[in-house]
Amino acid sequence: MTQITLINGDGIGPEISQAVVKIIDAAGLKIDWDIQSAGADVIEKEGTPLPERVLDSVRNNKVALKAPVTTPIGKGFRSVNVQLRKALNLYANIRPCKNIPNVKTKFDNVDIIVVRENTEDLYAGIEKQIDSDTAESIKLITRNASERICRFAFEYALKNNRKEVCVVTKANIMKLSDGLFLESFRNVSKEYPNIIKREILVDNLCMQLVQNPSQFDVLVLPNLYGDIVSDLCAGLIGGLGVAQGANIGDEYAVFEPVHGSAPDIKGLNKANPTALLLSAIEMLKYIGEDDFAYKIEKALYKTFASGLYTCDLGGNLSTTEFTNAIINNI
Ligand code: ATP
Repeated sequence: MTQITLINGDGIGPEISQAVVKIIDAAGLKIDWDIQSAGADVIEKEGTPLPERVLDSVRNNKVALKAPVTTPIGKGFRSVNVQLRKALNLYANIRPCKNIPNVKTKFDNVDIIVVRENTEDLYAGIEKQIDSDTAESIKLITRNASERICRFAFEYALKNNRKEVCVVTKANIMKLSDGLFLESFRNVSKEYPNIIKREILVDNLCMQLVQNPSQFDVLVLPNLYGDIVSDLCAGLIGGLGVAQGANIGDEYAVFEPVHGSAPDIKGLNKANPTALLLSAIEMLKYIGEDDFAYKIEKALYKTFASGLYTCDLGGNLSTTEFTNAIINNI
């Protein structure tokens, strides 16, 4: 039986991971879930929100499904998500944003892949208090990491029959750091003569995305722009409740939704499990369980087609009712 790490998270994490495990089980796929808790809830007992046992579990199983984990603000802990990505060298964050059949949105024909660099930029955590009135954060960009993520984006485009890769920067202002990212893109792009290349500034991209999103195909961005733009793209396809993601490195892969732990709806049986379910579906494809992936995807689409939604999408189903509806459709 395949063993996969399940980080069940906090906030709405445990509710939506339980839903997803139930759905995969109902589809008939037996997975030996190696359940690992992390985040605010384990700090008191283990002294850290990301104990080494969680990392060891992913190193051992190679693949993980991760529900959102909260990092307590202002207690001296670095973000669990950032730490996990760094420790396992999950340098590529992939966020596919595609219209979901029967989920109503402003635009049709949105099919964008956001490829976000995951290890550096302003997320490198290099911050300094200069004096009590001045703080400084360093934006770290290296040629190695930039070329690696741009190559990943082009390879993704090749494997998935995508036509264009567009690099997103603010290189007109940050001429050195974003300039290096752009230069890396241009260098790597020469290896891919059959893919269309495009360059855009991040502010212009945002305006174009909310006016005419279907013009975009694969986007590749440094860490911070990637974070912001992928939430914008999530809004285009129905919001955070349906936005999936994956963190991929050369050795390990961690699949997780774009959304956070949504403490405002914790324990209310209101959370939409779709984003985690879609992340799990991608995970199943990644481990070669395509038949089960498509079976679950079909059941999810059928549920939407019968007009069944959780509250965030304008419906009135609880997490449990929506989960059971998907299971009935399998
Ligand atoms: P983080 O900083 O961890 O991203 P956040 O509070 O900025 O956390 P989220 O936790 O993603 O962002 O929540 C943003 C809003 O979206 C909240 O109102 C939350 O209730 C809603 N939301 C997020 N995920 C879901 C979901 N799966 N189902 C329903 N509503 C959700």
